[in-house]
Amino acid sequence: MTPFRAPTGDILASLRRAARGGDWDTDVAAEVIGHFAAFAEGVLAPLDAPGDAQGCRLDGGRVRMPDGFPAAYAELAEGGWQGLRIPERFGGMGLDPLTGAGVSEIFSGANHSLQMVTSLVPGAVEVLLQFGTPAQQARHIPAMASGETLATMALTEPGAGSDLAPIRTRAVRDGEGWRISGEKIFISGGGQDLSSRILHLVLARSGDPDSGTRGLSLFLCSPGDGGVSVTRIEDKLGLHASPTCQLVFDGARAELVGTEGGGLRAMFAMMNHARLDVALQGVAHAARAADLARHYAAERQQGRGADGRPVTIDHHADVARMIGECERLARAGRHLCHLTLAAMQRDQRDFVEFMTPVCKYACTEGGIRAADLAIQVMGGYGYLREYGAEQNWRDARICAIYEGTNGIHARTTATRSLSLNGGAGARAFAAFLAESGVDPSGWEAEAARIAAMPDPAAEADAFMQLTARLALDAADQRLAM
Ligand SMILES: Cc1cc2nc3c(=O)[nH]c(=O)nc-3n(C[C@H](O)[C@H](O)[C@H](O)COP(=O)(O)OP(=O)(O)OC[C@H]3O[C@@H](n4cnc5c(N)ncnc54)[C@H](O)[C@@H]3O)c2cc1C
Repeated sequence: MTPFRAPTGDILASLRRAARGGDWDTDVAAEVIGHFAAFAEGVLAPLDAPGDAQGCRLDGGRVRMPDGFPAAYAELAEGGWQGLRIPERFGGMGLDPLTGAGVSEIFSGANHSLQMVTSLVPGAVEVLLQFGTPAQQARHIPAMASGETLATMALTEPGAGSDLAPIRTRAVRDGEGWRISGEKIFISGGGQDLSSRILHLVLARSGDPDSGTRGLSLFLCSPGDGGVSVTRIEDKLGLHASPTCQLVFDGARAELVGTEGGGLRAMFAMMNHARLDVALQGVAHAARAADLARHYAAERQQGRGADGRPVTIDHHADVARMIGECERLARAGRHLCHLTLAAMQRDQRDFVEFMTPVCKYACTEGGIRAADLAIQVMGGYGYLREYGAEQNWRDARICAIYEGTNGIHARTTATRSLSLNGGAGARAFAAFLAESGVDPSGWEAEAARIAAMPDPAAEADAFMQLTARLALDAADQRLAM
């Protein structure tokens, strides 16, 4: 298998281009990303295939990660990487989201499973910074910066997936605090033996059982206090080294974050971070696909050239086309995410709000497409475990499902984003296309037609495909400017 090589040069070029004109320290970013790339190539990536083969197991109620994962996590925490984005006053490095994006993509490319278990920390910190009390911040954020605590996001239940209104997990007052009872499923890192503590961010209902999403509040719950057990880990297509847990809360002690009934609002602070992170996971899979395909095709000889001599398969137009498409999906998707994060730093809220689901959709569909093409480039060998393209494809697949399915993001864009804030996000997107040299008129006409439909949901996916394609075209043009 071609060993993982971090696409550091491409990432830095894209970040520099996205941050142009802004206040961003290129040298610090290059140093940080370079250090992380060496760690990822030397420590994280070599565990990826063995972790996939071994998987996680539930041993007497405790989740055991694959061999080598606890030691790698200890090294990650020791290096301060868990605190990369956490403000310095809480013991973190306080680095910006653009540098964080570079590190995150490399982490996902090297070992998506481990990244998955560790990556909910920045979102949890964001929730505490926006909605937590100073006491909650002081209690939990430094422990996340040091790596002592890892966070989970506990939303999903058997009856509540895309639709969170049916959530049944209950929270009842108990003196100063709360107690939570109920069942959550599919919780990434719901149990693990990496960190000494786990902080669950749990969406639960505190009042009327029929209060829909308005009755949901967000709670912090740490199993160290008892009352939380892992009852099962799922057997799944990919991400075998990321434990997807069923959790039972049985009167577990919890504390409210933010206001009662304000759970969804608080959770969105976490999810919006996570959505761009998942988009970068898609980019990481596209980049890995391109690397695997390119190296394989440069060595595999089949067929003959015009002079009658044997050639490597990258000389065949169809193979070159597929490799080119993988490279473009990685490059354009990455730049789209970086442009969105740069806009976030400039506080261009309408654009960021419009772009977040577009990035999630475009980059995760791109990751799956590229992972699929890499298998095709490698022929029968692509289908074998040994060459890495097969695991890349299995691990990429989840990105279109979690953090809101791509169907839900398409629906939200067609039904809500187009008209939100008087259509300001849609106008910002059209302006972005025009400034990037992509004619926005066709998209604007289509957007107007969709917005006027009584039920745009039926055409939501086709509209999102168009939006994603143009967004990637624009990002690619920008990179070349
Ligand atoms: C590996 C893995 C890790 C996960 N990690 C976490 C985690 O850490 N925390 C957590 O809380 N959850 C997690 N999840 C759960 C994940 O977020 C959900 O699976 C996802 O939100 C979809 O919910 P669902 O599976 O119930 O599918 P459903 O909601 O049943 O959706 C099934 C299909 O119906 C479509 N659909 C549903 N509603 C509508 C609608 N109104 N209009 C149009 N189409 C619709 C969807 O797009 C999808 O195609 C994880 C899942 C997996 C597999």
